[in-house]
Amino acid sequence: DLDTVVMPLPSISTSRRERRWSDTSSYATNKKLQSWFQLPNGNWELGKILSTSGTESTISLPDGKVLKVKTESLVPANPDILDGVDDLMQLSYLNEPSVLYNLQYRYNRDMIYTKAGPVLVAINPFKEVPLYGNNYIEAYKNKSMESPHVYAITDTAIREMIRDEVNQSIIISGESGAGKTETAKIAMQYLAALGGGSGIEYEILKTNPILEAFGNAKTLRNDNSSRFGKLIEIHFSETGKISGAKIQTFLLEKSRVVQCMEGERSYHIFYQLCAGASPKLREKINLKIASEYKYLRQSNCYTITGVDDAERFHAVMEALDIVHVSKENQESVFAMLAAVLWLGNVSFSVVDNENHVEPMADEGLTTVAKLIGCNVGELKLALSTRKMRVGNDTIVQKLTLSQAIDTRDALAKSIYSCLFDWLVEQVNKSLAVGKRRTGRSISILDIYGFESFERNSFEQFCINYANERLQQHFNRHLFKLEQEEYIQDGIDWAKVDFEDNQDCLNLFEKKPLGLLSLLDEESTFPNGTDLTFANKLKQHLNSNSCFRGERGKAFSVSHYAGEVTYDTTGFLEKNRDLLHLDSIQLLSSCSCHLPQIFASNMLTQTEKPIVGHLYKAGGADSQKLSVATKFKGQLFQLMQRLENTTPHFIRCIKPNNSPSPGSYEQGLVLQQLRCCGVLEVVRISRCGFPTRMSHQKFARRYGFLLLENVASQDPLSVSVAILHQFDIMPEMYQVGYTKLFFRTGQIGVLEDTRNRTL
Ligand code: ADP
Ligand code: MG
Repeated sequence: DLDTVVMPLPSISTSRRERRWSDTSSYATNKKLQSWFQLPNGNWELGKILSTSGTESTISLPDGKVLKVKTESLVPANPDILDGVDDLMQLSYLNEPSVLYNLQYRYNRDMIYTKAGPVLVAINPFKEVPLYGNNYIEAYKNKSMESPHVYAITDTAIREMIRDEVNQSIIISGESGAGKTETAKIAMQYLAALGGGSGIEYEILKTNPILEAFGNAKTLRNDNSSRFGKLIEIHFSETGKISGAKIQTFLLEKSRVVQCMEGERSYHIFYQLCAGASPKLREKINLKIASEYKYLRQSNCYTITGVDDAERFHAVMEALDIVHVSKENQESVFAMLAAVLWLGNVSFSVVDNENHVEPMADEGLTTVAKLIGCNVGELKLALSTRKMRVGNDTIVQKLTLSQAIDTRDALAKSIYSCLFDWLVEQVNKSLAVGKRRTGRSISILDIYGFESFERNSFEQFCINYANERLQQHFNRHLFKLEQEEYIQDGIDWAKVDFEDNQDCLNLFEKKPLGLLSLLDEESTFPNGTDLTFANKLKQHLNSNSCFRGERGKAFSVSHYAGEVTYDTTGFLEKNRDLLHLDSIQLLSSCSCHLPQIFASNMLTQTEKPIVGHLYKAGGADSQKLSVATKFKGQLFQLMQRLENTTPHFIRCIKPNNSPSPGSYEQGLVLQQLRCCGVLEVVRISRCGFPTRMSHQKFARRYGFLLLENVASQDPLSVSVAILHQFDIMPEMYQVGYTKLFFRTGQIGVLEDTRNRTL
């Protein structure tokens, strides 16, 4: 009497990756077995196979519907006892729906952490979950709690650091809003709790509100989005106590200071300052409310729900006190912030019939001059002219409106990014490890994940390149680890094919014909444009399988995480990142000390390149490293440092885009799991014997299935008898001292028999 409905078969895309994941071949479509069936909307639904005839199967869904489907479209589901296992490796059937279901099962119960072999998967709860705090820290410390957790992975890092005397790293990745920064803070809390005592741990924790105020902003994806990458290296003394720390930052998004999208904000600190400064400070730096400033006004968004900027400002000041930034220096910092804001209000008027402009002598101009410590005339000149050297002569060129605006914005961006770097330097001074550095360290990397938007620019280009490098590190490490383990156990190692991203890295790094080299080359040509750059790429790179020329100024790259089309608009300018010598000279002539420091830092950076080649900027008036080359240098340094550590990987996953607690979008999660290589890792890890069960548990669970009595009742003998009776092939399991080890799917077979018998 079953209500039989025949539904059209959904079109299931069978990309190379996906096909590899459906290990249907090993699955006998037995009666009563549970199976995954994909609905037309792409979600998976659990069904029971009622019958199979030829290529068709009849399945019943939980809501009572019965469908006829192609047998080959069914994907095996795991027996109920494997529901919510805390390591995906334990799944008997490893396929995408089973992994998704397992993660969702746990997520619905606030178990946001799951192991995927050696990797920790963390799904953002978007709400407070009762998993943190001293009681939990204590439980993980004394091992009374073992479920997957950031605390557990951090604990392992500490233990391995002490045991092996090797530096450790915790590498956190994931999309924007996936929870990387929160995860990094949770790891830091655990380190501080276990390695605390000297007081320095308190300072280390206080770097978070400072860096977040100056380096985070509200974006459409995340109200507290980090706009820079961060590596914090925490040092331990020989006795296992924290002795200091060092922070390195990567590629702060400068453009946000002068330009941001509707609904987003500039850096938090600007709004905090405007909301929280004392009347005395306001007067001193001539501060207005946020909406008075053009840089903040353009995106039409001043507040964040649930956030009190004034309150945050006081917390930042307190944190600055704690990391020993003097009140005087703090005031200089606020003056620089105000100078940046006022720069945005500087406007220009046309002064001749060639459309040259000059800044208007209004409140904006005079306030900037006062705040940085120069006279109004000098500032006016720096914003409206450019000195050029022609042979031995210097000529002065007047600027048009768009040139003047670019010059003004470049100055604002430079002041802000120099301020950010300077602050990090102050923090580092305060956290500095003594000269006698005898202990070891644990580094935590919180860096932007792979990005693929509708429109992808220079920032995504750099970010995705960095991720390509990190992915290679991930692959290499986990691959190597597995191989070593098998050799050690004397297990035959059949090479598993791996998604290698070397070709893509070559596309970026090859000299002279790689993306980065060609970008730098084009950036040195005075007549180079984004279009000539794009054309050059198409001319030289078309033979690379990871590259595809697109129409006009665009090109595509096949990243390990998917194909991304980049629009080269703005690439050359962002890569050159010119601050004209006039502006640097202006800052160096200022009477305030911060502008002077900024200018001298800019000059040392331009004269003494750390890595790579020197490149001559367009007007031949300054020489500096291109942004991409500098970033590549930083990245290589970072990789070198990470290579010398034992890595621990955390992959953060964003379950929905709203963001809202409780909503779990299968498609979105799946896409991230694929991107960050989690499924691949599990697959490789499982080439061994991923399912483990103690002799006792095994004997208890399946012993009743034995047809003959076993002479000895000890769990091992019972277990072996079960294995024999079920003809489990010797290559499918290994008997350990306390546990039995099974290959993928083996427990599933036993479990099915057990269920049919019960
Ligand atoms: P990312 O650094 O990956 O861009 P964040 O770490 O800033 O993402 O997380 C974004 C938001 O998600 C946080 O502001 C917080 O509201 C929420 N969140 C992330 N992780 C957790 C967690 N473990 N518990 C509660 N909320 C979290
Ligand atoms: Mg972040």
